[in-house]
Amino acid sequence: MAIAYLALGANLGDPVATVDAAFAAISRLPHSQLQARSALYRTAPVGIAEQPEFINAAARIETALAPEALLDALLAIEQDFGRVRSLRNGPRTLDLDILLYADLVLDTPRLQLPHPRLHLRAFVLQPLADVVPAADFPLPGRGSLAAWLPAVANQGIVRL
Ligand code: ADP
Ligand code: MG
Repeated sequence: MAIAYLALGANLGDPVATVDAAFAAISRLPHSQLQARSALYRTAPVGIAEQPEFINAAARIETALAPEALLDALLAIEQDFGRVRSLRNGPRTLDLDILLYADLVLDTPRLQLPHPRLHLRAFVLQPLADVVPAADFPLPGRGSLAAWLPAVANQGIVRL
């Protein structure tokens, strides 16, 4: 079994309901257990400004799924929520990313771990801070989570 951290994001339809339902779907992942869920956060969109605000959250799971199988399962949940892939950083019904999978460092076309932009974004780091066991939690190859938080303190994010 491995511990993995997931990011949830939504900004179309009813994003609070979508993220709640996504947590429920994550709790039903095969060979996995949902161990912790973060608060919900309202955040300003990154990249394309002319779109609704996002609701973001994070989850900690314990899973026997291999990283690629976990990604497949998460992409299937996204499909269930009717995600239409269009613009990068554009509006989406539901985005599910793997932030960390154990202390694995991986760089393949399909899967990069840790998630490459995780340490730069308040909408990832703040929810992640809710579900890690300790504030000095290490990000593989990137120092501690707590050390990155001040760098994103100026990004607009509101805990619901
Ligand atoms: P983004 O999440 O960057 O806004 P998408 O959700 O459209 O973009 O993801 C596009 C692709 O990113 C996915 O099909 C997946 O193969 C790839 N990917 C690479 N690393 C990861 C990761 N850590 N978590 C989720 N997807 C990833
Ligand atoms: Mg994604």
